[in-house]
Amino acid sequence: MSIAGVRYRFSGQLGSGLAVLPLAALGSALLCGLAYGYINVYNPLIYIQALVTFGTCWLLGMAVSRAARSAKVRNPGFVAGMSLLAGLLGLYAVWTVFEFAFLQRFAPAGVGMTPSLATCLVSPGMAVNFADTLAQAGWWTLGRSGSPVSGILLWIFWAVEAACIVGGTVYLAHTDFVKGVFCEDCGQWCKETQDVARGELSTDAQMLAGLKEGDLERFAALPPPLTGEKSYFRLDQRMCEGCGNLGTYQVHKIVTTVDKNKKEETKTEQLTPNLLLTPDSVQALGGLISRGKTRAQAKKPFAAPPGGDTPAEEAPPAAPEA
Ligand SMILES: [Zn+2]
Repeated sequence: MSIAGVRYRFSGQLGSGLAVLPLAALGSALLCGLAYGYINVYNPLIYIQALVTFGTCWLLGMAVSRAARSAKVRNPGFVAGMSLLAGLLGLYAVWTVFEFAFLQRFAPAGVGMTPSLATCLVSPGMAVNFADTLAQAGWWTLGRSGSPVSGILLWIFWAVEAACIVGGTVYLAHTDFVKGVFCEDCGQWCKETQDVARGELSTDAQMLAGLKEGDLERFAALPPPLTGEKSYFRLDQRMCEGCGNLGTYQVHKIVTTVDKNKKEETKTEQLTPNLLLTPDSVQALGGLISRGKTRAQAKKPFAAPPGGDTPAEEAPPAAPEA
């Protein structure tokens, strides 16, 4: 028997998102623009820029996703649209603040007053002219080549950077937002409990296919990993604390590798979306939780309980059917 999971779906309601999310997009875009614009001017090292680009996407994405949570938005499409807005506003703010900070630092004295930050922020045409002028000369070098990166190469670099900021923001906002589960009856988000049960890692194709369907019977056929083992399958759970009627579960694959410097790296792969708990899967999940997350270095090999039964000490003797 298998218990394939049924995917949880959002209701599509907007909550108070129409009022809250544009403000969150604008506010986070301005903050990120201020930080990124200045860092670009004072620290034009390419690897720091890459880090700052990622940080900017993360902040913009999280700002939109978390604002959507608190505004009780249950519409991933709307959140994607708002994160696109945040990404574009963020990109615009980055460029205009960069323009302001660049002119403040490098404009030759005596040429005239440099524009104020407010003027830069409300003048898109000026920002385009500034970028065009800057691209002709370039202003930073790559490696030890000596000559600044300029012209079409610089525009390509900027285009990639822009795509990373906008695309990264939408991606991060979406992946964070769709982790949530909302109880429409109680009007609240479900509480997440990570790592409620574990299963030993398996490379068996059928097993993996079953786990990707959220089949908890298959999961129960895997023994818990040995204590101290850092690679395993992990079960997470979300439950409505208001009514206890809505719950979901999710399967993750956790793989920890050690490089030659003995540095550990852990990767978490999501195998299923949020799957609704049914009476069958609640029972299977209960058995998985009660068996414990890990097993000691036992002398005798683990035997999967027949029919997915829970361990004897956890399960009361079956009562005769009424
Ligand atoms: Zn509820």
